[in-house]
Formats: sequence, C-alpha cells, structure tokens
Amino acid sequence: MAKATLKTGKDGRLMKNEQNVCIHCINQIDKVAGIIDLSDAEIDILKQPVRAFTFSFPVHMDNGTTKRFVGHRVQFNDALGPTKGGIRFHPEVDLEEVKTLAFLMTLKCAVVNIPFGGAKGGVVVNPKGLSKNELERLSRGYIRSLHKFIGPKVDIPAPDVYTTPQVMAWMLDEYEKINFEHSPNLITGKPLSLGGSLVRDYATSQGGVSVFKQMAKKMRLSETSTIAVQGFGNAGSQFAEILFNDGYKIVAVSDSQGGVYNREGINIKELMIFKEKNSTVVGFSGTKKITNEELMEIECDVLVPAALSDQIHKNNADKVKAKIVLELANAPVTSEADNILDNKGIVVVPDILTNAGGVGVSYFEWVQNNYSFPWKEDEILERLDKLMTSAFEDVYEKSKHYKCSMRNAAYIVGINRVLEAEKLRGTY
Ligand code: NAD
Repeated sequence: MAKATLKTGKDGRLMKNEQNVCIHCINQIDKVAGIIDLSDAEIDILKQPVRAFTFSFPVHMDNGTTKRFVGHRVQFNDALGPTKGGIRFHPEVDLEEVKTLAFLMTLKCAVVNIPFGGAKGGVVVNPKGLSKNELERLSRGYIRSLHKFIGPKVDIPAPDVYTTPQVMAWMLDEYEKINFEHSPNLITGKPLSLGGSLVRDYATSQGGVSVFKQMAKKMRLSETSTIAVQGFGNAGSQFAEILFNDGYKIVAVSDSQGGVYNREGINIKELMIFKEKNSTVVGFSGTKKITNEELMEIECDVLVPAALSDQIHKNNADKVKAKIVLELANAPVTSEADNILDNKGIVVVPDILTNAGGVGVSYFEWVQNNYSFPWKEDEILERLDKLMTSAFEDVYEKSKHYKCSMRNAAYIVGINRVLEAEKLRGTY
C-alpha cells in the first residue's frame, strides 16, 4: 500500500518537490489509503493543487494613501468540472490554509456529486478596519488581479468568512466591466436581484437537516430525541430553527459568550428574538446557563458543532455523551478526537457531507444563471433534499461496505469520483 507521508531531507525540511503539497491532506489521504489501495500516482494527484496563485494588488485608501494587499486563489482539482469555492477576507488567511480549504472543497463537491472541482481564495485583511468604499475597492482589486484565471467554465467564486452578497456583487460587476459582457454565472452567493438563488441563505442548515434526518432514521432515533447545538450564528441558529419547527427537542445552544440548557427543550423561535435583542443566547428565560465546554459534554442524542474548528479535541472527546456528532462547522473535530469518538462508538457525520448544502445550492444558482431561468423555493428545496439524501446514502453504504467511519467513507466516495475522472482524462 502506498503512503502519502511527506518526504523530508536530512535537516528535516520538506524536499523541494514536496513544498507545494497540502499538508492537511496527507493525514486524511493516509487514512483512506489504509482502506482502499491508492497508487503513488493517485496520491500525487490528491496531495497537490493544480494551480495556486499568490499576488499583491494596490487599494486606494480613504486617507489618500495606497496600500498593497496580498491575495491567494488555489484551484485544487478540476477533473470533475470548473473549480468552485469561496473567497475569505481575514487577517489570518495564508496559502497553506487556502490550499487545505480548496482540497476540502474538491472532496465536498465530489461527495454531493455535482460537476465542480474545488477551489478557495482569500485576502489577508481585517475587513472590519475598512470603510465601505475601501472594501469595494479591495473586492474589485482582487478580481482585477485574477480575472484572467477565473470564469463561469473555469473557476467560480462564492462568499466565505467576512465576504457577503454585496462583495460578490462588486466582484461580478468588475469582471463584467473588464469583459464587456454579462456573466452572472461567474460567481454565486449574489444578491437575488443580480441572479442569486432562493434558499442560498439557509442552504447549509437545510442540507444539514436532510443529512440529520437520514442518520436519525438509520440509528432509529425518535422525534423526542435531544439535540445540542454549539454556535448560534448563520448555520447553527437556522439549523436549530428548522428542527424546532419540525418538532424536535433542542436542549442546549451556545454562542461565543456561553450557552443555555433546558432538559425539556428550548423555544428556538423565541430564543432567536432574544438573541437579536441581546446579541447573545445567555440569559434566555427558563434556561440554565452553561459554558461552551459543558455543552460539549451534555447528555443528549445528537451534538451539532456549528461554530469553530477544533472544538472537540483529545482533552474533551472522551467526555462526549451524544450518540451522533453532526459536523455542521468545518473541521470541528481534531484528528485525535476523531479516533477517540470512533473507539467510543459515537458516529461522526463529517463536515464534507453535512455542510455541503451550501455548495449544493451554489451549484443550483449557477445552473439557473446558465439558463437565465430562476427556480421557485419549493423546487430548490426538493432538489436540495434529493442531492443531500443521495450523498448520504452513498457515504453510508461505503461505511458499511468497508466497515469504516462515516468520515473515511465520505473521503472514499469523494476520492473515487475525482480519481475516476482523472483516469478517464488520461492523467495517469
Ligand atoms: P457565524 O459567524 O454566523 O456563526 C458562528 C457562531 O459561533 C456565532 O454564534 C458565534 O457566537 C459562535 N462562536 C464563536 N466562538 C465560539 C465559541 N468559542 N464557542 C461557541 N460558539 C462560538 O458563522 P456560520 O456561517 O454560522 O459558520 C459556522 C461554521 O459553519 C463555520 O465552521 C463555517 O465554516 C461552517 N460553514 C458555514 C456555512 C454557511 O453557509 N454559513 C457553510 C459551510 C460551512
């Protein structure tokens, strides 16, 4: 069996031909290579991006000075179609992180079986320190640097951390001005009036709910089963609200300031109004205050991390009491914690399946733009549920076939689809 392990020189530094690899990919690929046979040629395809751009560009600031910003765009793999992935504006963006996220996008698109490869981009910037005009000039500058290398049939960006539909609108407008033609299919997550899609703003949570319901069926969880959600932002609050409306019992939720708990269930509709007014869930009447650490260890059937990465780690994984951990956030469980949960018999439903509803509806947005024909909300919801249910079935079936975790099974599904396309293209 081939291994993806990195090759280093005598001084411990990466060999020159290993410097472009995605280091995060190595661990996961190695886990999968222990289950399905992967050749050296296949591992080489999976561990490095086909293209990575790093560039700097000038932005005129409101005070009359000009500042240069660094941007990245990584197109990890395009065997299945044009690459797809968000652009984040964050001070801690770096090329290694962008590569990792582009690798995950490649597998996420492959797992839900949409005709896209994976990409990710970013600018090293604290957008909170910019005026609206500076933010617009930054968004346009990013596209001016990159416009030759993206396109509706090449690479299709979307929003990510601290980028919004308005940022997508500026980026689209810049691209269309340069190319002197309308191309709404260049970018997804646009405002509705510029060709955005209905459901896009709650697609991640809605897709997560489809996955949750399939998993609950397989594990024979009843509708009185209890759910705890860490993170009450976009993804977490909408997820909790949809399940609450469907009659499920949400016993605990939290945000950055702490959490609340009620064994009998929390009224999520009222909690959303409370959070809107108070900017936190803490203090909601009829609940007991808990810490984020306590939420992770609470007695419940399903634990849904929907905030940050690395929230379940080697020091708390042993205390998790849920039967299912549903990863609505990206990478909320560390690799060590994953093994601990697996040994305890806790089923982890992985991020690249659970939160793929967002990219699923992005794909629908692109299709609607290609046809200049918007779909109704009901139609999108039905298609999304089919997409997520079918992806769930593929992953579940592989986990039974290989007697492996749902995470490894999702990687197997994604990797097989990418490699099949590469093989048919004659790449190896
Ligand atoms: P968000 O910023 O809207 O919400 C994040 C929430 O986490 C907030 O309620 C915040 O208070 C809370 N939080 C911050 N620090 C915390 C802590 N230490 N403990 C508990 N809660 C804390 O972000 P979001 O869009 O909801 O994204 C949440 C996660 O879901 C991220 O991992 C993101 O990558 C992932 N995700 C989101 C989408 C999407 O469409 N929104 C798509 C795919 C993946």
